[in-house]
Amino acid sequence: MSKTLDRFSHQLSAVFGLVFGSSLNRAHAQNKLARHIVALNGKTSPSEIINEVADCLKGILGYRLFAFVNKKNTGVDVWLDPRMYKTSIEEVIIKDFQVKDKKDLTYLNMEKNREACPEQFSLDSLVHYDHKEENCYSRLYMMPSRPITKFHDDLVRIILQGCSAALSRQIKIQQLQDAAAIDPLTGCYNRRTFEAQLMGHASGAGRHGKPLSIFMFDLDHFKSVNDTYGHLCGDEVLKEVSRLVRRNIRTEDIFARYGGEEFIAILPETDQAHAIELADRLRQKILALRIPFNNHTIRVTASFGVAQLGAGDNIGKLVEDADSMLYKAKFNGRNRVMPGLIKVHRDEASASSNQAKSSLCRQ
Ligand code: GH3
Ligand code: MG
Ligand code: MG
Repeated sequence: MSKTLDRFSHQLSAVFGLVFGSSLNRAHAQNKLARHIVALNGKTSPSEIINEVADCLKGILGYRLFAFVNKKNTGVDVWLDPRMYKTSIEEVIIKDFQVKDKKDLTYLNMEKNREACPEQFSLDSLVHYDHKEENCYSRLYMMPSRPITKFHDDLVRIILQGCSAALSRQIKIQQLQDAAAIDPLTGCYNRRTFEAQLMGHASGAGRHGKPLSIFMFDLDHFKSVNDTYGHLCGDEVLKEVSRLVRRNIRTEDIFARYGGEEFIAILPETDQAHAIELADRLRQKILALRIPFNNHTIRVTASFGVAQLGAGDNIGKLVEDADSMLYKAKFNGRNRVMPGLIKVHRDEASASSNQAKSSLCRQ
């Protein structure tokens, strides 16, 4: 951080000497910019960083930041002026960054009512500035209300440079956090993250009286995939299966690799019957999956165990229940979900008839 700041203060002195006339104004603005640059370095999320840049541009130069785009190896982050109509600038960004699909854009600050308060502006007066760091490429779009002088131009570049450095550092921190939380082969959460998440979700479910279920699955006869087609093929299967599952669960579900060819998922606000339905849908999708590998087409099946957190249960018991159901699914012939849905419905029906009987007795 001190290196970055040194670089900036050196550039600042040169630029400020020319931009602001009196030495009093110059010192005032220089202090302001230095404060913004220091603040940038303390921000912990991309949207906070870019909000700081917007404030800085407005506060020092009176320029309005319209949009900010940060292209990373893993996707394109977009920040938009909250008062602005989204569609037109989105088209500009998609064209400029050759984005194939709108869904590849991640909006850092999406207000629900953005479409409801469009602001008219002409894209002709939009200007942009670019900066490249080792792990990202940033572009800011501005709509200056007056011609940009050479000195203002220098200043905007310094601000952008400070912003990109902060974003780049934030990406590195995120990568480190991901490395600790994510299984490198499949991109799923790892077991450690799963356990931490389960603890939080279970206590939340208990507090709010909401159901919580988990499913666990293990690929069937996976050893024979490795033995027949090689370990690399086995890896490919693990990647494809986990991708398939991730695509077919909700964003709030937590999906993790539990170990080897065994996966586990937390399903917040989901009772056992719905968890079984989901598990069976996934089982069928895995069954239908065809994985091409070196002129072969690999097919696999999976056995699932499902469990719901009971009142007073701890998370150890929940995982044990799912595990013993998974064991049953293996024992009963594999490529199935345990408990089966019919069994759950039957149990529910007998529980409610017992309830009816006992209320009859009380009468
Ligand atoms: P079952 O239906 O009873 O689960 O049989 P299985 O063959 O799937 O189970 P087993 O426990 O006998 O074998 C699991 C295999 O999974 C053995 C192990 O080498 C393989 N495996 C575990 N992790 C990985 C991995 O990261 N990559 C690959 N390619 N194979 C893995
Ligand atoms: Mg297995
Ligand atoms: Mg296994």
